[in-house]
Amino acid sequence: MNIILMGLPGAGKGTQADQIVEKYAIPHISTGDMFRYAIKEGTELGLKAKSFMDEGALVPDEVTIGIVRERLSKSDCKDGFLLDGFPRTVPQAEALDELLTDLNKNVKHVINIQVEQEELVKRLSGRRICKVCGTSYHLIFNPPQVDGVCDKDGGELYQRPDDNPETVTNRLEVNMKQTQTLLDYYGKKNIITNIDGQQDIHKVFDDIDALLGATATK
Ligand SMILES: [Zn+2]
Repeated sequence: MNIILMGLPGAGKGTQADQIVEKYAIPHISTGDMFRYAIKEGTELGLKAKSFMDEGALVPDEVTIGIVRERLSKSDCKDGFLLDGFPRTVPQAEALDELLTDLNKNVKHVINIQVEQEELVKRLSGRRICKVCGTSYHLIFNPPQVDGVCDKDGGELYQRPDDNPETVTNRLEVNMKQTQTLLDYYGKKNIITNIDGQQDIHKVFDDIDALLGATATK
C-alpha cells in the first residue's frame, strides 16, 4: 500500500507516521532520511545533493527525484511505503507519478491531517525556555508546574523570537499556499482523504487505520 502523508507543521504528522509504519509494516520514507542515506552511502546523487546543501542552496528537483526513485526501487518498498515530506510541489508530484508508473506502482492514498490555523499557531508557538538552564517546556504538551517558572531551578521562562505567534503565522501561511496546490492536484485524482487532526491523537490514528484497513490487500 503506497501512501503519501500530508499535514502542516504542528499537525502531528510524525506521531501518525510512526504508528502507520508499525501497523502496516511499510517503510517510513522522509525526505531528510533519504538525503542522509544517499549522502552517507556516497551515491552519485547523494554527493550532488550534498554539494548543493553545503552551499546552503536548494537541492534541484531532478536530483531529489533521482534520490526518491532509488529509494522507492529498493526491495523493502515492494509491499508499500509511506512518503512523508515529498512531494512538496505540483511539479514534484507530477514527477513522482511518472516515476511510479515506470516502477509499475501507484499512489493508493494521500492522507491529509487537517488542523485549523489558529490551533497550529498555538501548538507551534507554545515553546518556552529557561533562561538559567535552557530546559525547554511547552504550554500545551509539557507545561511547567508554575506558569513562567522553571521546575528545576525557578529560572524565568522566555519565548524565542522564532516561536512568536506572528513569525509562526507567517511561516505557516507560506506553507499553506504551497500545500493547497498539492491538495488540489491530488483532489482531482480522488485519492485524498482529510483526517481531523484536532481530535485526540489516538482517535486520529483510529480514523487513519479505518481508512487503510478497509483497503488493505493483506
Ligand atoms: Zn531552569
